[in-house]
Amino acid sequence: MNKQEIIDILSDNTNNDWLFSEADKIRHENVGDEVHLRGLIEFSNICKRQCKYCGLRSANKQVQRYRIFKDEIINSVQKAVKLGYKTIVLQSGEDDFYDTDKIVEIIREIKFFDVALTLSIGEKTYDEYKAFKDAGADRYLLRIETTDKNLYKNLHPGVNIENRFRCLYDLKSLGYETGTGCLVGLPNQTIESLADDILFFKELDADMVGIGPFIAHSQTPLKDAKNGDFWLALKVMALTRINIPNINIPATTAMETLNPNGRIIALKSGANVVMPNVTSIEYRAKYEIYPNKICLNEQPEQCRNCIEAKIKSIGRTISNKKGVREK
Ligand code: SAH
Repeated sequence: MNKQEIIDILSDNTNNDWLFSEADKIRHENVGDEVHLRGLIEFSNICKRQCKYCGLRSANKQVQRYRIFKDEIINSVQKAVKLGYKTIVLQSGEDDFYDTDKIVEIIREIKFFDVALTLSIGEKTYDEYKAFKDAGADRYLLRIETTDKNLYKNLHPGVNIENRFRCLYDLKSLGYETGTGCLVGLPNQTIESLADDILFFKELDADMVGIGPFIAHSQTPLKDAKNGDFWLALKVMALTRINIPNINIPATTAMETLNPNGRIIALKSGANVVMPNVTSIEYRAKYEIYPNKICLNEQPEQCRNCIEAKIKSIGRTISNKKGVREK
């Protein structure tokens, strides 16, 4: 689709059912009915950045900060592997305590297990990304958040969008399966810029794209902003599926925060991945990027069983493979 076609669909809500079923059909034809589960470990909520939407921004002094050290991370990985996860996602704030050597060591230990490893630890240099890749990391998640240059600048003090683009192209060139994505419903975000976001995912040839609604956090400068709209986020996701048919698209947790059936609706509208949390309960509530995160009091086992039942209830199956993007 060209930009105008995407804008037209995003601005018109009379054909949403068609859009969602078209995305579902394209998902079925291109990546099949299997759902890939990725076990998410949120290993540090310490962050040096000031993203205005994020509850973990360094200026938020009300967060109880934590770090999970290597041995405990490996423990969680072991548990996740026992639960059948074939991909582990390590996510954190931008926490310089974990320097290249520490991350490399963690990667090497995780790669003793037969799992794919995704990192989601923010903006790094080419050499750092290369060191992680050489150590065995397979994938990297770094949402562009928005491709609107002015909006990006307003929301991310002290950094620039060019560096975020640079990171994504570095990751691609290093051979990572590269994931990106955007927030939907940020204050002052336009439909035009959402269309640009989708075109950017295609231009990058992203292997994964995660789309989530913005959710206002009370301890951030955007505390009084309106939450993003679940259905608009779903439309951006469905359009991403239609425009890049063979990629992996998660049904994001933020969607479930805004709609109690959000992940299942997303799985029926183009998504083929779910990222259940495998972080120990003692840390979960503290990784509050946005409020009302789901499953805060559920053990990893419970999350695994719960999502499996939901996925089966819509006639889909859980993959026992790593879920590499197949071109
Ligand atoms: N530091 C890492 C991980 C960020 S947390 C990085 O920079 O990539 C993962 C994602 O949470 C972010 O990319 C952002 O899109 C999302 N997020 C942050 N705050 C949010 C909010 N208030 N509402 C919805 N999603 C949010």
